[in-house]
Amino acid sequence: MSAEAPNTLAIDREAMVHRAAELIRLSTINPPGNRYLECARLLARQCREAGMKARIVRIPDEAVRRRFPDGKLYPRAIVLARWDVGARRTVHFNGHYDVVPAASEGWRFGPFEPRLEDGWLYGRGAADMKGAIASLLEAVSAVRRSGAGPAVNVEVSFTPDEETDSVFGAQWLVAERLVRADYAIICEGGHGSRIGCGHNGVLWFEVEVRGKAAHGSQPREGVNAVEQMSRLVIELTDYARQLERQHRFRNPDGRLRTATINVGGVTTTLDGAKINTVPAGVMFTVDRRVVPSESIEEAEADFRAFVRGVCRRVRGLDVEVRKIDEHAATYTDPRHPFLRKFGSILEKVCGERPRFTVSSGFNDSFFFAGEAGLPTLGWGPGGENCHGDDERVQVAELARVAEVYARFLREFAGAGEAGAAVAERQVTVERSVGS
Ligand SMILES: [Zn+2]
Repeated sequence: MSAEAPNTLAIDREAMVHRAAELIRLSTINPPGNRYLECARLLARQCREAGMKARIVRIPDEAVRRRFPDGKLYPRAIVLARWDVGARRTVHFNGHYDVVPAASEGWRFGPFEPRLEDGWLYGRGAADMKGAIASLLEAVSAVRRSGAGPAVNVEVSFTPDEETDSVFGAQWLVAERLVRADYAIICEGGHGSRIGCGHNGVLWFEVEVRGKAAHGSQPREGVNAVEQMSRLVIELTDYARQLERQHRFRNPDGRLRTATINVGGVTTTLDGAKINTVPAGVMFTVDRRVVPSESIEEAEADFRAFVRGVCRRVRGLDVEVRKIDEHAATYTDPRHPFLRKFGSILEKVCGERPRFTVSSGFNDSFFFAGEAGLPTLGWGPGGENCHGDDERVQVAELARVAEVYARFLREFAGAGEAGAAVAERQVTVERSVGS
């Protein structure tokens, strides 16, 4: 390192992998939210080692207990760190430190025993997303070592619970107004040449169909809720096709996204159903995804009107629709100077032309873009087998990501420097096609 010219960015791969390995070793499995406090303490230490001021925001235990009333308390905590250089603007980086569960059987090495092999780092969270956290911390360290500070203030949050509902993670962070920044980068949600600039919205319902119980040997005495449900489900299939035609969104990268419906992710018979009983009730879920050109309120009203329509047509169909969750779609225009600058750095480092994309799935960028109203992008390392066995990420990939973040921090001073003018290489954004 001493041979480096001043102001040169040098990524220390060994230190980066060491940080990632330390994190992987803590099995922050969610659910239920294992070893969160230990991990928060480790992250705060890593932030301080990277030269930032760090604190741990512990979610009050009463709040956690209220949400999970039965069972053991698994404490929740957020790590918040800052490097203030007195700049006009602040960029916020976010990563989640929880991981999905892992059964050891399918793994070559233990999921929580990080291993390096042929340039790949293995372990639960290596790709999603403890590796990304290590890349970010290495970027901050590299900028500090280079002697030329960042052009913006740096704010970092590491949050739990992304793999479930983010209530005590990114949602809490934003709702408590702990973010003091002008732009947000989520260290996942795009990789390689693809930069995430939004995601589809989510509208979740429970649909309960009521019938009438009777003895299984005399089915005509009852009303079979499962048979009634099947009539509704068949109509739902047509409705889904109609939505696909009606609500289309042209991604900035040219790909077409459409509204979707997934039926019956959870389906259960109610009222102690048995094989010899005519089922009196059945509940199934509906997962409706909303593209950025749609209004979530209209999507809900339309769905309820559709169900009412089916009830009018099908004799005796008795249905109750309950909304269980909703998040609007988000979208940051790729022509925004913040996104353009990030794209140009990515192109310089990786040699590939960036493509901006709206993801079909929901992610934590919702809270930064949708709730906090910040220009937001999602980009980090791409790995293999996220949520699967032998999850892994290439060390070279982690290093590339660290370099992009570091260069961005040194070169991006805020939207003013890029100007509002949308000049060369304008990206055509077609907000809505066919609706
Ligand atoms: Zn993730």
